[in-house]
Amino acid sequence: MTTSRILPAPKIAALSIHFLVIGGGIAGLSCAVALARVGHTVTVLERQTDLHEGSCGSRVAPNLSKILYHWGLEKDVRKIAVKSGGIELGISSTGESLGVHHWDDEMLREARGEFLFMNYGDIRQLLHDAAISLGVKIRLGTEVTSIDPDKRRAKLANGEVVMGDVIVGADGVNGVTRRLVLEQEAVEEEPPTQRYNVYTTRIPRNIVEQDPELAPLFDEEFKRLFVSYGSGGCVIAFPVGPDMQELAFEVYTGNDGNAREWGEEASAKGLAAACAGLSPRMQKLAKLSPQAPQCVAVLEYAELEDWVHDSGRLLLVGDAAHPMPAGCIHDDAMALEDGAVLAKLFSHIRTEDQIPNLLYAFQDLRQPHVKTVLAQEIRDIDFMSLPDCEMQQGRDDSLRTKRDAGIDVMAPSSTEEEMPQWAEVKFVFCYDAEDDADNWWMEWGLLRERARGTDVALGFVEPVAIRQGVSKTTL
Ligand SMILES: Cc1cc2nc3c(=O)[nH]c(=O)nc-3n(C[C@H](O)[C@H](O)[C@H](O)COP(=O)(O)OP(=O)(O)OC[C@H]3O[C@@H](n4cnc5c(N)ncnc54)[C@H](O)[C@@H]3O)c2cc1C
Repeated sequence: MTTSRILPAPKIAALSIHFLVIGGGIAGLSCAVALARVGHTVTVLERQTDLHEGSCGSRVAPNLSKILYHWGLEKDVRKIAVKSGGIELGISSTGESLGVHHWDDEMLREARGEFLFMNYGDIRQLLHDAAISLGVKIRLGTEVTSIDPDKRRAKLANGEVVMGDVIVGADGVNGVTRRLVLEQEAVEEEPPTQRYNVYTTRIPRNIVEQDPELAPLFDEEFKRLFVSYGSGGCVIAFPVGPDMQELAFEVYTGNDGNAREWGEEASAKGLAAACAGLSPRMQKLAKLSPQAPQCVAVLEYAELEDWVHDSGRLLLVGDAAHPMPAGCIHDDAMALEDGAVLAKLFSHIRTEDQIPNLLYAFQDLRQPHVKTVLAQEIRDIDFMSLPDCEMQQGRDDSLRTKRDAGIDVMAPSSTEEEMPQWAEVKFVFCYDAEDDADNWWMEWGLLRERARGTDVALGFVEPVAIRQGVSKTTL
């Protein structure tokens, strides 16, 4: 249970409304924490009963950790996270190390966050507990079967009807809410492209450390992220859990036909086959997992034009709005940033008729940033998985040159000021979603409100419940 005191938000909404959040993944729970922090009433409906189902390792970049710290959750994060010192690049087929990069202190200071390793289920639990401490009602084991956005209500599998002022669709890429928004576009969604699958599993430290060749994967000083390049796939490994109890192991491979949903078991044989051409060290690791791995498709979807339903009362967030490739670095971050931005915007609500505008503002703000990050994620997976070719040779040789000269792998070459790939990474790490939302409000939000005749010069107003009748639910 969360012990930290959630820090009060700098601005509390003048009008408190009821958000009905469909889905309690990272996006839904982040929206819940952030919206409750600014004074709104939130109900989350989640069909799962176990928040740790399908939990594997997550890389938590500074753009995500800074928001958790900003909300006052740093103490709790420290109990469950491993603070990473940097990254080691290598070649998966031979086990050759191509060099290391230590996270740059100046960059981390600028980013105001840290690079952490956490378990997906632990992040979810942390957000769940924080939301509960803020008075959010979370109904686990509650499946939504249909939604009427115009009437702002959701029907549950048990026949119950639940209402809210705004419905937040955080039910993932295959959820009810994305389908509703797609239906209104009256075009068939293009099937996603599937070039890779990713196997993920967690291996207990005490098992890994029994093998002297594998034991150095747990390194108390550096706590590194291992990234091994391969042809048509790549391998990522990092320690997770309090005291680094486990090693998260992810293997990207071509589409081998073994993909299932998150939370479903895949065959250990599939993982072994994906590791067949890899170094003996990796092959040994693949065999150590005591539980069956998961294998999830890495899907690339065409951009969804509308995230707001025509009713002006239903908004898509997280993977429902912008599905991220499985196992990528910023999937959880994009979901959490969504919650942070949504709450920033709804901290400015004074009248109910602002709701659609604020939902469209969310879309305006988030779409370009998510698009940039999504493209970067796909480029990164391709870069790590380059087939044997001139480009791959150039990539590896330039890293070898730096390694042999004792230089950091992210150091610029003699002809550049900064490595372009590193500049891109830094941009996303240093991005502050909450600052961006504040800036948007100052630049555009206030203008729009003044144009609508809203008296935005008024000072702080105590939250009042929106029309009692509408907010009342069957809960
Ligand atoms: C079970 C599971 C395990 C995962 N494990 C990892 C992991 O270990 N590492 C990693 O990097 N990423 C993992 N992911 C993916 C990652 O969480 C997402 O890509 C990212 O965080 C975006 O999250 P989201 O909340 O937008 O969507 P999702 O994570 O897909 O969450 C959607 C939520 O909505 C719920 N839901 C869907 N339909 C309904 C309905 N009709 N009624 C009620 N609830 C509904 C689902 O149960 C789910 O909890 C996992 C996803 C899932 C669903």
